[in-house]
Amino acid sequence: MAELEGPEFGKADFVLLDEVTMEQFLENLRRRFLQGRIYTYIGEVVVAVNPYRTLELYGPPAVERYRGRELYERPPHLFALADAAYKAMKRRAKDTCIVISGESGAGKTEASKYIMQYIAAITNPTQRAEVERVKNVLLKSNCVLEAFGNAKTNRNDNSSRFGKYMDINFDFKGDPTGGHIHNYLLEKSRILQQQPGERNFHAFYQLLLGAPAALLASLHLCRDPGAYRYTREGAQGSACGDDADGYRAVEEAMAVIGFSPEEMGSVRRILATILHLGNVGFVAEGETAAVEDAARLSALAELTATAPGSLRQALLTRTVAAGGGELIEKGHSPKEAAYARDACAKAVYERLFCWIVGRINASIAAHDYDVRLHGKSTVIGVLDIYGFEIFDTNSFEQFCINYCNEKLQQLFIELILRQEQAEYQREGIAWQSIEYFSNEPIVELVEQPHRGILALLDEACLAAGTVTDPLFLASMDARLGRHPHYTSRKLCPTDKTMEFNRDFRIKHYAGDVTYSVEGFLDKNKDTLFQDFKRLFYNSADPVLRAMWPDGEQSITEVTKRPLTTGTLFKNSMVALVENLASKEPYYVRCIKPNDQKSPTLFDEERCRHQVSYLGLLENVRVRRAGFAYRQPYHRFLLRYKMTCEYTWPNHLMATDREATQALLEQHGFQDDVAYGHTKVFIRTPRTLFCLEQERAQL
Ligand code: ADP
Ligand code: MG
Repeated sequence: MAELEGPEFGKADFVLLDEVTMEQFLENLRRRFLQGRIYTYIGEVVVAVNPYRTLELYGPPAVERYRGRELYERPPHLFALADAAYKAMKRRAKDTCIVISGESGAGKTEASKYIMQYIAAITNPTQRAEVERVKNVLLKSNCVLEAFGNAKTNRNDNSSRFGKYMDINFDFKGDPTGGHIHNYLLEKSRILQQQPGERNFHAFYQLLLGAPAALLASLHLCRDPGAYRYTREGAQGSACGDDADGYRAVEEAMAVIGFSPEEMGSVRRILATILHLGNVGFVAEGETAAVEDAARLSALAELTATAPGSLRQALLTRTVAAGGGELIEKGHSPKEAAYARDACAKAVYERLFCWIVGRINASIAAHDYDVRLHGKSTVIGVLDIYGFEIFDTNSFEQFCINYCNEKLQQLFIELILRQEQAEYQREGIAWQSIEYFSNEPIVELVEQPHRGILALLDEACLAAGTVTDPLFLASMDARLGRHPHYTSRKLCPTDKTMEFNRDFRIKHYAGDVTYSVEGFLDKNKDTLFQDFKRLFYNSADPVLRAMWPDGEQSITEVTKRPLTTGTLFKNSMVALVENLASKEPYYVRCIKPNDQKSPTLFDEERCRHQVSYLGLLENVRVRRAGFAYRQPYHRFLLRYKMTCEYTWPNHLMATDREATQALLEQHGFQDDVAYGHTKVFIRTPRTLFCLEQERAQL
């Protein structure tokens, strides 16, 4: 195992622990972390601890050390995992995926970037121009996505506020020819409000602090983030240098990706639009609202390329269908107008983000003719999605994020633990069952049709008008009160940690989380008045206009209720899991060593908790009891029959199984293998490595 690492660095694979106990696991993890050995295997799973410092681990010499090597030939590294996924994809034409999990700040996004860097470095030896371009776009896309989708939170200065799954397409030579990014549920409520000490999305500060003065003036903006309601909270934490540098980096990245100067201009105007929208105030004028500041209104009309009259109307009124197909304008109260304005700002930003992702995808879409010419292209997917979140106040977003983590944990259990055990049983291999925690009941609690929390929430939204958040809570309490993973304050009135008419608690696999039901209905319904959609659809700005295809409908056509946020999210999670399950998975499990971002502190309690909920001990046990490698007898013989006189060129035995047995015994591997009904099982990778060498030497 893993040359180049002496025993002082601990065990490079947790499988080699003397005893599989939490204490030994943590001791090994701690020892390695303190010596900068942040990666450790569990078989083919990489466990990574965030070093919170720059390590010399990722440069070109490191790439060369891992290129084309087998996992166990070098010290554990993300590059080895990336290479394994790449080899599987190339040698066996298998779609693979790399699933990166861990809580916020554990190092997922950094890991995903190193993996992509590695793949970019080892491909396209002949420097084909189109492949180079695709690789560049893939690498640069991170910078743009982070500007618009990341923000400073109290957990992580560069926290991803959206989920990302990126497919990279490869041609028959193994070079990337295209890609596609899926984004999941952007935390758009951040546009309006941030927790104390947190910021809005980076893009706003980058624009304000990085744009040249003349450009800012043309956008009617001043340099001070404190001057805008949406960026005020984060104004203190804005590091001027970083944001200005960020601005330039993003501009450059967008140009490389292929955004035209006009498109980039539109993006900047849309950002400015949102900042201005936040500062629009309303006053009462008789029964209805009026805009406080006429100058701001005309700036907004200019930025959005809309008619000032239409803009004013969209801000102050909504169109409703009266009887007989007649349309009437209904004036907002100042409060309603403020609410509609905020909904508008959130929607504009969300659509901008989706438009940007779509624009990146357009520039790297795998071409049909490639596929027609060379057959199916193969894919490596990289998933970097928000980790489990427990905040002081947890809302609808945390509920969705944590549900997503339950789904991924379920997939991990399915693929690594359950399928593994099931296969041994099927093949009749002696096997001792391993106990593990199944989170299926929690997933069911959330997503079950008609009875799950999301279904109850949709039901409450359908009855809109009469149902409030507390009533929704009451209906959950009544119908889920006895569920073992659901806790209602009503059923344990002594529990003072929950607010009576506001909170419910879910026992997640990663711990108990108390959610505040406040805003659940609103966020799930996610209403945006058709008036805004129509306004922007009629904008003279082609980018803004393209973002609102549904603005064409008239109010009488918009009768069908759109799917709710919760249901859309659930559907996207089900599709994601299906997609991942169809690929050969590789896992990176990230661990956050402490909450202080310290490179030297190994907070044992925090780590113990993560090791426990990530199911890493169970993972080691299954791996130790198991076999690293398996193959049907005939396939095994096809590959290795030339290494043995009894099997070359063809064996004369009654079955492939007997022939395989003869081959392995001749090499002296009989103690490292087991024979199933249809497959041979090999315990350690080393055996396979030796066979490969025999084969290569012939
Ligand atoms: P996550 O995506 O899991 O929330 P990030 O990948 O954004 O976490 O990591 C948070 C921070 O931790 C990064 O901004 C960086 O400062 C640090 N970090 C993470 N991984 C590494 C690494 N491999 N080397 C150095 N610093 C890292
Ligand atoms: Mg991240």
